[in-house]
Amino acid sequence: MINFKNLEIPQIKEEILKKGLEKFYKEYFEWLKDEDKKLNSFLFFTEDLAFKLIKEIKNKDINLPLYGIPVCIKDNILVKDIKCTAGSKILENYIAPYNATVIDKIINAGGIIIGKTNLDEFAMGSSTENSAFKPTLNPFDQKRVPGGSSGGTSTAIGAGLVSIGLGSDTGGSIRQPASFCNIYGLKPTYGIVSRYGLIAMSSSLDQIGPMANSLNDLISLFEVIKGKDKKDSTSIDFNNEKIINREIKKIGLPIEFFENLDNKIKNLILTKIEKLPYEIKEVSLRYIKYSIHCYYLLMPAEVSANLARYDGIRYGQRENEENFWNIYKLSRGKFLGKEVKRRIIIGTFILSHGYYEAYYLQAQKLRRAIYEDFQNVFKEVDLIIAPTSPTLPFKLGEKIDNPLEMYLSDIFTIPANLAGLPALNIPVGFIDNLPVGMQIIGNLLDEYKIFELAKLI
Ligand code: GLN
Repeated sequence: MINFKNLEIPQIKEEILKKGLEKFYKEYFEWLKDEDKKLNSFLFFTEDLAFKLIKEIKNKDINLPLYGIPVCIKDNILVKDIKCTAGSKILENYIAPYNATVIDKIINAGGIIIGKTNLDEFAMGSSTENSAFKPTLNPFDQKRVPGGSSGGTSTAIGAGLVSIGLGSDTGGSIRQPASFCNIYGLKPTYGIVSRYGLIAMSSSLDQIGPMANSLNDLISLFEVIKGKDKKDSTSIDFNNEKIINREIKKIGLPIEFFENLDNKIKNLILTKIEKLPYEIKEVSLRYIKYSIHCYYLLMPAEVSANLARYDGIRYGQRENEENFWNIYKLSRGKFLGKEVKRRIIIGTFILSHGYYEAYYLQAQKLRRAIYEDFQNVFKEVDLIIAPTSPTLPFKLGEKIDNPLEMYLSDIFTIPANLAGLPALNIPVGFIDNLPVGMQIIGNLLDEYKIFELAKLI
């Protein structure tokens, strides 16, 4: 089988076409299904759809950016006529009635959708252990987690089963698993990629983004999926050349991100940047220390509203038909997982009369302060470098019974979501044979500046 770990899209395309699309994909699916038994990165494969897409691209231009290339999709992104579970029992039998905009774009670019990958239920989690179906294992050590919530996509790519795929990132769910699996993962500027067809968790923070084995492939996938979409009113135009400013002079290291950081992780990051031809400057983000508090107020509030539709009536499996309240209570009680319920309860409380001002409104003010903090820093520097995760990939079961410990996994990734900023995880090496990543955070719409620096590193 092709080595997806060391090849980029142009070479993969060449190899596939040399073999012939049908022949390649027949052998590929056999190999893939077998390989994935050890890792559980996929919830299911979409073989029929893949062969249908192969037929369709035969009449298309061979120079399309993803022509014939396998792509895996996190199972909270809708693919028409295919199951979409969001990692939850409540959507176990849900069939998507339409394509997410990103799926239309991938198909139009010649991409072949090979399967839906595992995730924490409704993308709530940092280890993929909250999936209602099975945990995914880290490709570098099967006793450890792949990170989450996009742990299925990150494992599939990190293990070389596929070279590119989609994840979603609300508080770090693309970057942290990318870091744990030694791959690239981008959370784009809020609005650059349409969210139409993404099962909503926390709409003001959610963002679909590309994950890949190489920076070039990540950029190719980003170019395919970005762009304004009539169906997502929060989406923005990114085709304007004027905003593609790539000039870099100064790079900022926020002291708050590095002061208590594990020394080994810190040193690895610092050695990666010491030879850069830019001025490196310490900067300070005063309110960053409240990011987790802010996130865990706003996110559950939005979760409680977004997940109200899974009641066994409008969406989801139904339990007990006898009376209205029982349908509600028993369906949600039986088919939603523990972490999802925890957040719905917290969110409902935060939004309730008398608490709204004390919690939700305060958190909104804090969010604005964190955004302004970043804007002030971007007056001094062009890009920010930060760790992605405070720890190495942890053991399965290590944090699952301690939600607060688990929430701290996203301490360095959440700020970019709160401020709407683009941030990229790049793999920087290994400590004790486990992958380490670092983030480049840019100002709004500065994706190409981030790519420029990532290329140098
Ligand atoms: N781990 C974070 C959470 O549990 C982020 C999840 C995400 O980005 N989808 O909310």
